[in-house]
Amino acid sequence: MAARVTKVDRDAVRRATGTLGVAATLRGLRVTSTHFIRNLWGWVVGKPQVRTVMVPEEEDPKPAAFRGMPVLVALDDGKERCVACGLCEWACPVDCIHIEPGETADEVERYPRVFDIDMSRCMYCGLCEEACPEEAIVMSARVEISAFSRAGLLWHKDQLLTPASQLERRLEYVREGYGRR
Ligand code: SF4
Ligand code: SF4
Repeated sequence: MAARVTKVDRDAVRRATGTLGVAATLRGLRVTSTHFIRNLWGWVVGKPQVRTVMVPEEEDPKPAAFRGMPVLVALDDGKERCVACGLCEWACPVDCIHIEPGETADEVERYPRVFDIDMSRCMYCGLCEEACPEEAIVMSARVEISAFSRAGLLWHKDQLLTPASQLERRLEYVREGYGRR
């Protein structure tokens, strides 16, 4: 069977794409300009049509389903709820959790002497939260975690500990989502 040869006129393709590119750019600029002028006019007449969040002074409220950085739940006495079982460390697909367990004399018996999360590797998947049997690690609404070095993105236990009262909405959402009521 004879092979079928298709000859592509590359110059014609290039010409067509070039024209389409200009047309698409102009169309995009028209859309952007229309929105810009409409919003600017709204501000001028005191009836803004879009809500502007003045970051970082203002915070954009996040829904309970939002997955920001994982944090450790702190109890009323400031101690961690975590019992250093290691399930979150095991569940983390990028191995960014590092735990070293320690022993206590109280009824909990174990606690994380070291609990680090390398946020430069975390992908906000929430598997640590799902794996935890103690509701001790949850996804917070926090996203402002930039640092000037990789070492600055290694978060330690004292930085990760967050009062349970600040995480109640997410904890409720997790209980509902995983049927833990
Ligand atoms: S959110 Fe995902 S990647 Fe980040 S620490 Fe938890 S399990 Fe690991
Ligand atoms: S955060 Fe939860 S899963 Fe991770 S070690 Fe502590 S108790 Fe276990």
